[in-house]
Amino acid sequence: MKSLSRQASYGEVLLGLTGALLFWILDAVIKKFLIGCELPFLTILFAPGLMEFATRLLATALLLLLVLAAAWLIRRKEDSLAQLEHGRFLLEEMAIELGHKNEKLSAEITRRKAIEERLATLADTDELTGIYNRRKFDELLGIELRQEPRYQRGLSLMMLDIDHFKEINDRYGHAVGDEVLKELAYLVEDIRREADTFFRVGGEEFCLITFASNGANLETACEKIRKAISAHAFETIEHLTVSVGATQFKPGDSRETLCKRTDDALYKAKQSGRDRVVIG
Ligand code: GH3
Ligand code: MG
Ligand code: MG
Repeated sequence: MKSLSRQASYGEVLLGLTGALLFWILDAVIKKFLIGCELPFLTILFAPGLMEFATRLLATALLLLLVLAAAWLIRRKEDSLAQLEHGRFLLEEMAIELGHKNEKLSAEITRRKAIEERLATLADTDELTGIYNRRKFDELLGIELRQEPRYQRGLSLMMLDIDHFKEINDRYGHAVGDEVLKELAYLVEDIRREADTFFRVGGEEFCLITFASNGANLETACEKIRKAISAHAFETIEHLTVSVGATQFKPGDSRETLCKRTDDALYKAKQSGRDRVVIG
């Protein structure tokens, strides 16, 4: 009852009182004109008998109570709706905030992935020529060596070493030497087969991981590269040759035995006059 009176406004009290007044008038009209009471209308209206007065008072109180109770119920419903609306608004705000945070997080993840990829590329790439470096060579050769016994794709290793490169540096300067290394890398990258992978493994030493069905095929592939380099008109120097040592994977080969055979073959190519291919 306390909260009822607290919540009722003057408007509702006025409405209740108006209702009560109308009831008083209606009661007087019924008494005067329907029942046919002989007293004057104003006397019936303003000076009713005790019973009449008590009835009207009770009706007034009941009407007031009804109006106040109805107003209180409406208010409660409105409050609940407002609370619901507020809750929905808060939820929407949270959803928007979460969406923003999610967007930021996705952008951060993309940025980090890009950095990681760039770092991984840098770690695998030779700075001067842009082809794979020694680190990548070790990694890929390890993978191929593990797969070869099962898939038998004719894994082969080719090692190229520029002939008398020191003389090129001495004669034209280190910067020209660098340009020659880049041009050679570009040339071999251009003519190598799709499945081959080309690496710069040392100063003027390059490796090619390739696949050949037999020794003769491997020799043909090596000759193709050697001849292409020998026939190439370099921009800065007149002529360049390479010596090539190559070998095919044999059952039981490890990284060491495969590299040793390739090295030995390259050494023989150098020893026997350079600008040639030796299959080990
Ligand atoms: P060989 O025919 O016996 O291979 O003779 P070579 O002169 O090519 O071999 P050597 O090992 O004596 O010399 C290799 C030279 O390669 C020496 C070094 O200065 C040069 N070199 C190594 N890395 C680079 C590089 O990044 N840039 C340049 N310009 N020269 C390099
Ligand atoms: Mg060398
Ligand atoms: Mg050399």
